[in-house]
Amino acid sequence: MRTVPLLGGETVPCLGQGTWYMGDKRASAKAEADALRLGIDLGMTLIDTAEMYADGGAEEVVAMAAAGQREKLFIVSKVYPHNASRTGVPAACARSLKRLNTDRIDLYLLHWRGGHPLAETVAAFEKLREEGKIRHWGVSNFDTDDMAELTGTACAANQVLYHPDSRGIEFDLLPWCAQQGVAVMAYSPLSHTTTRLLRSPALTAVAQRHGVTPAQVALAWGLRHKHVISVPKAATPAHVRENAAAAAIALTEADLAAIDAAHKPPRRKVPLDLL
Ligand code: NAP
Repeated sequence: MRTVPLLGGETVPCLGQGTWYMGDKRASAKAEADALRLGIDLGMTLIDTAEMYADGGAEEVVAMAAAGQREKLFIVSKVYPHNASRTGVPAACARSLKRLNTDRIDLYLLHWRGGHPLAETVAAFEKLREEGKIRHWGVSNFDTDDMAELTGTACAANQVLYHPDSRGIEFDLLPWCAQQGVAVMAYSPLSHTTTRLLRSPALTAVAQRHGVTPAQVALAWGLRHKHVISVPKAATPAHVRENAAAAAIALTEADLAAIDAAHKPPRRKVPLDLL
């Protein structure tokens, strides 16, 4: 699997696994953990979760999947904005570590910007980093003006909505992050509900040319940028297999042009799209 470098030189796989809605129901937790384990076996060793997902339940599913193989994994979790104060961050991190059954989070993100001063959150992240409880920190749902406030810091990643029907970040945020060495994590790369995007005639035509599915084309499309990490969520084993295989698809210039014609790139600044 191709890798993406983080600030400082460590590399992570370009394709990981999301966990939103995992852990919602006790009855499906084992199957969800099994799906994550399958994805790990297929090279998707970066796992994205958050204290928000199923009120911590998703972090517990990640712990089930990580049992016996924590060393292989790069675990990303997120702190709620209302917990992002100097004292709230370490307390939330301690709860996440407990649910994740681990001694460190590899990348800890501010889920979206809230009322606490950013400098306070960053100071709390840096302290956790010194203590070894997190290895990197970053943000999520930050537009270019928010990112500018983080210039010169150790912010390693910005996780944002990115798929063929939501590509405003290509105008300025993606180039800004590339220039600063901040990895962009594409969330909802299949557009979350998948119904409309995956029926796109353009994606379908490209998929037929490659003998793959429109979902795989959507993932390969996001991964054409060398500093983008994509985190599709899949609890269905067939989807997990498809997604892992998408990392090997090389779209041609003609494929990209056909996608551009139907899913237009931005021509001017558009405010960051959120889910
Ligand atoms: P997504 O990954 O775009 O789509 C998930 C849906 O796609 C699920 O219904 C899944 O079904 C289905 N699916 C997966 N692979 C498929 C395939 N190959 N073919 C057809 N359908 C497929 O949506 P998401 O969960 O919103 O986003 C991914 C992850 O990004 C989240 O889980 C979360 O970790 C993160 N995220 C972060 C934020 C943020 O604010 N930072 C916001 C949203 C999401 P099955 O589960 O049945 O396989």
